[in-house]
Amino acid sequence: MDEDCDYLFKAVLIGDSAVGKSNLLYRFAKDEFFLDSKPTIGVEFAYRSIKVGDKIIKAQIWDTAGQERFRAITSSYYRGALGALLVYDITRKSTFESLKKWLKELREFGGPEMVVVLVGNKSDLLHSREVNLEDGRSLATLEQVSFMETSAKENLNVEEAFLHMIHRIYETTSQKSL
Ligand code: GDP
Repeated sequence: MDEDCDYLFKAVLIGDSAVGKSNLLYRFAKDEFFLDSKPTIGVEFAYRSIKVGDKIIKAQIWDTAGQERFRAITSSYYRGALGALLVYDITRKSTFESLKKWLKELREFGGPEMVVVLVGNKSDLLHSREVNLEDGRSLATLEQVSFMETSAKENLNVEEAFLHMIHRIYETTSQKSL
């Protein structure tokens, strides 16, 4: 355990290529941005610390670094992760249709208790929308996950989506002690 935090946990970004995962992570990590990589398994990750009550929580958030292009996400990517932002692009229906596959993989490798937040990104591109807000919301209800639309470009709801996931992870795990 790091000395500068009370809790440290891992969360992952997942979803099709070019939905905006890296841009979301850059936005969220911003000033405290600390990017690192594990070349051996080809991932990138960033840390950000947040305060919840009197506790300091440090989230280590993993990004695929483009590996999903080659369908090369392995179980080591998910191992130990307590949460996931599952991202699609509201302007590309195919990225929404892939969600079933990603959810199956998340549940298989990440375990049933993983906190999942469904994120419809690129909400600034309303004129090219292919996935309705209602479709995102219905899928989230069906799959019993949280849901938000975001824009990494305009910085809309990005902070909210990550913080929601982090708070939920904290709530579900602090009782059990991480
Ligand atoms: P990744 O492959 O999922 O990590 O996607 P990237 O973060 O590399 O983004 C893919 C492309 O979408 C890039 O050209 C980004 O500039 C663009 N992009 C990402 N997020 C947004 C957004 O919220 N709005 C718009 N308009 N473009 C975005």
